[in-house]
Order: sequence, then structure tokens, then C-alpha cells
Amino acid sequence: MSDSAEQADGSTPRLGVVGAGAAGAAAAYALRDADVAVTVFEKSGGVCGRAATRRRDGCYYDHGANYVKEADERTAALLEELGTEGLVEIDEPVWTFDGEGTIEPGDRESTKRTWTEGITQLAKRLFDRAGTTVNRRTRIDEIRARGTDRETDAETRWGLTDTEGSEYGPFDALLVTPPAPQTAELLRATDWDDARREALVDAVDAVPYRTIRTVVLHYPFRESYPWYGLVNPDREHAIGWLSREECKPGHVPDGESLLVVQMSPAWSTETYDDALAEIESEVCDRVADLLGEDRYRDPDWTDDQGWRYALPDSAVDAEAIRTAEDARLYFAGDWVAGEGRVPSALWNGHETGERIGAALD
Ligand SMILES: Cc1cc2nc3c(=O)[nH]c(=O)nc-3n(C[C@H](O)[C@H](O)[C@H](O)COP(=O)(O)OP(=O)(O)OC[C@H]3O[C@@H](n4cnc5c(N)ncnc54)[C@H](O)[C@@H]3O)c2cc1C
Repeated sequence: MSDSAEQADGSTPRLGVVGAGAAGAAAAYALRDADVAVTVFEKSGGVCGRAATRRRDGCYYDHGANYVKEADERTAALLEELGTEGLVEIDEPVWTFDGEGTIEPGDRESTKRTWTEGITQLAKRLFDRAGTTVNRRTRIDEIRARGTDRETDAETRWGLTDTEGSEYGPFDALLVTPPAPQTAELLRATDWDDARREALVDAVDAVPYRTIRTVVLHYPFRESYPWYGLVNPDREHAIGWLSREECKPGHVPDGESLLVVQMSPAWSTETYDDALAEIESEVCDRVADLLGEDRYRDPDWTDDQGWRYALPDSAVDAEAIRTAEDARLYFAGDWVAGEGRVPSALWNGHETGERIGAALD
């Protein structure tokens, strides 16, 4: 069972989830048949977090995570279970380029999935199948502990407050899924007076992140290439990744092209606060040089997104965060799994949801 807290009857255990990314959505999905009322709070207007899609002028583009790598059978089975309509595969491979801009065939030929309406379909379908209500545009800025029994923790109840001062709860368990630095901020702003808290905050705060700035370039023409994406493994180029959304069925009208360009962490950090207009021509010039085609210097429209906490570089100390589970405070996400990948976040959220279900049973 999964429904809004307002509709839950008194005897049904309640779970509050902060964040509607892949981890939060998979946790809700794992609890779809459990007797737990799940309420999700998401600060943005959409779902799926860093696996994000925008729509403009007849194009869909995934400007965060580019695709879901279907590396194992359980991921393949889950994507099918969520519905095959609109589930598409990117046929072309990912090639590489070095710091000098030399492009070479790569061996990254794994199955790459997204949906005609974009990668956000993943969380949309998970929440939809689970019947979960997501409270969008609700930024949580405080976690409150209510009625903690210091002896047993058994009576711990959690409450949440958003930036408008609205309060939610009580919840019998809480799942927190924002990137580690944002989770650490929430943990600092909790009144949970417990010996575990300091070590918990330190562990979460210690997860290092890479910053990425995505620049989107649209052109009224289409070139043909044998690759879908280009990645820079030596990390010596200002461009870290470049891909062609037109390789995804349904994303770009015929005769047009849309490039998703992810700049390197060093370049992205340096220019993070610069307006798109200030950096656009440099990015276009770098793309034109890399692809050896002058027409890329002049896109007909552009877009961008900065991801300050794009990818965790290592995992959190799992032991430190597991200590909070006795108090029914849980964490999930790519930084818990230790890999900045959608499937890692997804399965970490799913497994955490299963543990929560067992604890609340
Ligand atoms: C540029 C880029 C490219 C990537 N490319 C790939 C790729 O090709 N393949 C791949 O597998 N992975 C890729 N990734 C990584 C992938 O996107 C992440 O690993 C995955 O989406 C993480 O999911 P999550 O649920 O852990 O976190 P998130 O997606 O970050 O979800 C957390 C959610 O919490 C919300 N939130 C944060 N704070 C609050 C708050 N205070 N109150 C309420 N809500 C809050 C956020 O808005 C967000 O929706 C990429 C990431 C980036 C940024």
C-alpha cells in the first residue's frame, strides 16, 4: 500500500521520504504491496532528480543522466515490468576522445535504455505503479524527532518541516535521499538529540562530489556519425561527454540535432556561476573543433543546467549510516551505493525500501 499521509488510517505505519529521485521512487515501489503509507516530498516540480528530462520545440532531452545502462537481468526485468510502451534502446555505441580531441571507437557497447518521453519516465512509472502521491515543490529544511524513547528507540517518530514552515508527520520511519551534502545539511538541522548524530553528519558530509555543467545545443540540421556519445576517459579535455539526443527514438524531429554537452568537473566548477550567454560561444567552439564541423559554432537555441552535486566520488561509510536504522532513520541514493549511476541509486533505494518494509511489518 502506498498513499498520501493524509489518507492513511491510524493503524497503518507511515513512511516519509525526502526526494523523488530514482532511489526514493524505487523505495516507494518496493513497498507497493506492504501495509505502509508512503508520502514523498520533492523540492522540484518534477520527479527523477538528476535523471532529468526537458521538453522544448518538439524535442525531449535528458540533460542529467543520459540513459539507464541495462547491465544486469534484474534491471532489464524491472524496466519491462514498468511497461514496454515508449521504452527505447540507443543502438549506436559510445566512442572516446582524448585531451587532444582525437576520437576513437570505444568498446562501451552495453544496452542503453531511455524512454521516448525521456528518462524521467523511470520515476514516473515507479511512483505510478506504487500509487504514491508525491508532494512536489516542497523543500524540506528540517527533520524533527518526536517522542524518542532513549532506551529502546521504539517510539521514535519523525516529523518534517518545509521551507514555508508547513509541518508533516508524524512518520514511523524516515527515508532521506538527497545528495550527501544536502542530506548532511538536513541532519545538521535536526533536533534529534542522539549520540549517533555527530558521527552520522561527519560520515555523510565526507562524501566527495564532482560538479558538472550541462550545455544543450540545438541545430536545424543533422550530421550522421557512427556513435551516439563521446566520452573523454583521460579527463584532459574541457568537454567530458557529448551525445546526440537524436539517437534516442522520439527525442528530436527529423532533420534536426540536439547535442548534450557535459563539461569537465574543473571547467564546470570554474564557470559554475557564469550566465549561459557568457560561456555558450566557448562551448560551441570546443564542440565544433572536436567534431571538425564549423556549423556547430552557431546553434539555433541553447539551454543549460548546473549540477553542483553531480556525481559522488566514493561511498559513504555504510556502518555509520546503518546505526541510525535502529531509530528508523534511513538513507538511500547513489552516494550510499557508492556509484553515481541510475541503477545503483535505483537498487539501493529498492533494497532500503525492503528493509523498511520488514522493520515496519
Ligand atoms: C550530468 C549528469 C550525468 C549523468 N549521467 C549518467 C548516466 O548516463 N547514467 C547513469 O546511470 N547515471 C548518470 N548520472 C548519475 C545519476 O543521475 C544519479 O546517480 C542518480 O540519478 C541518483 O539518483 P538518486 O535518487 O540517488 O538522487 P537524485 O536523483 O539526486 O534524487 C534526490 C532528489 O531529492 C530532491 N531533494 C534534494 N533536497 C531536497 C529537499 N531538501 N527537500 C525535498 N527534496 C529534495 C532532489 O530534487 C532530487 O529529486 C548522471 C548525473 C549527472 C548529474
